[in-house]
Amino acid sequence: MSIKVILEKCNGCKLCVKSCPYQAIKVFEKKAIIEANCNLCGACVEVCKSNAIVIEDKRKIEDTSGYNGIWVFTEQRNKNIASVVYELLGEGRKLADSLGTYLAAVLLGKNIKDGTDKLIGHGADKVFLVEDDLLKDHLDDAYAQVMVDLINQYKPETVLFGATVVGRSIAPKIAAILKTGLTADCTGLEIDLKNRLLLQTRPAFGGNIMATIVCPNKRPQMATVRPRVMKKLDFSSSRQGEIIKFEPKNLSSKINVLNFVEDLTEKVKLEEADVIVSGGRGLGKADNFKLIKEFASLLNAAVGASRAAVDAEWIPYSHQVGQTGKTVCPKLYIACGISGAIQHLAGMQTSETIVAINKDPDAPIFSVANYGIVGDLFEVVPVLISKLKETRCS
Ligand code: FAD
Repeated sequence: MSIKVILEKCNGCKLCVKSCPYQAIKVFEKKAIIEANCNLCGACVEVCKSNAIVIEDKRKIEDTSGYNGIWVFTEQRNKNIASVVYELLGEGRKLADSLGTYLAAVLLGKNIKDGTDKLIGHGADKVFLVEDDLLKDHLDDAYAQVMVDLINQYKPETVLFGATVVGRSIAPKIAAILKTGLTADCTGLEIDLKNRLLLQTRPAFGGNIMATIVCPNKRPQMATVRPRVMKKLDFSSSRQGEIIKFEPKNLSSKINVLNFVEDLTEKVKLEEADVIVSGGRGLGKADNFKLIKEFASLLNAAVGASRAAVDAEWIPYSHQVGQTGKTVCPKLYIACGISGAIQHLAGMQTSETIVAINKDPDAPIFSVANYGIVGDLFEVVPVLISKLKETRCS
């Protein structure tokens, strides 16, 4: 795609300059100039009253009619299927039913066929099962190769991945090989039934607006979806499904795994925790996370953090909650010294009960909190800790 200004028509009115969210347009000698940071969003085309800006789309429009089915990539480690896979199957079930098509899970690995029952029990009509020695560990290039071969053969209309480290790494590889679109980090999926399009919603512009993205000319439509956003279906052993075995051909990898080192920074996994105690910049220094850790351990909770605390290197990134960290949905989320910036809320506001401790009564976190304590966390948290200890002793 390319954008151009028809100079004869441009009258230098600057409406395009005001409309551009990327500040990619300048007016020089009463003519608009589009700069390199333009991302072809089309906002300027819409506002230009003299039709002086045009976007030319020279891409070939593909025949998308032969594509069918909603697929979910099954992320697994040591045969443990990631819980986001079941969430995607729950959402995929709704999408497939509204389109009148099938829902499939794609399971890659070695000695993993036991996983097929779980995938069918959680909603899949079909499981594509691919087993090979080389697929024992997750190797991006080998996994991507198999996914591309499967997609080329069976032509699904949509393929969904968890927006996890694995999903965020493999999905762009596959999309690039297939030359199709990929929407990262979706928080909502719907179907435009008339055009059979996947409406992919995700936060944009630093989380300040929600954008809905479509992929009209290419297939499959691909998206990564944030964990803990979609709802799982309850497991039912009565669900029936078909298992399709696929033999990979000429499988190879440039990666040689020497060793795996377990991440020991998290005792309780944030995304799976029922209770999370998070600390922010209000803690003042790294050492003060001890207080949060003590509070969390008494509640058998995971420790979370705001990006400010992570950026200050008070705690590793694996603890970050929010738009560029993890999305969590615990039963109880306790925010200590966190202001409640929109990017933090994006990762925790669906928690069942939110408790905020902040000395500023106007902190935005209180607008999403079920219970708010206005006070100094260094006074409030020690009181809560000693009450919890008392309860344990009695
Ligand atoms: P602050 O905003 O500085 O708030 C500190 C709070 O602590 C204040 O409300 C203050 O009143 C309170 N406080 C201070 N001392 C005490 C005390 N003694 N007792 C009680 N309260 C006290 N942020 C995230 O968290 N996660 C993300 O994933 C994320 N992604 C981002 C992505 C983008 C593209 C951008 C632009 C920003 C992102 N941010 C993210 C950053 C976000 O905008 C905020 O800057 C950040 O969340 C602020 O962290 P904070 O609340 O800890 O710090």
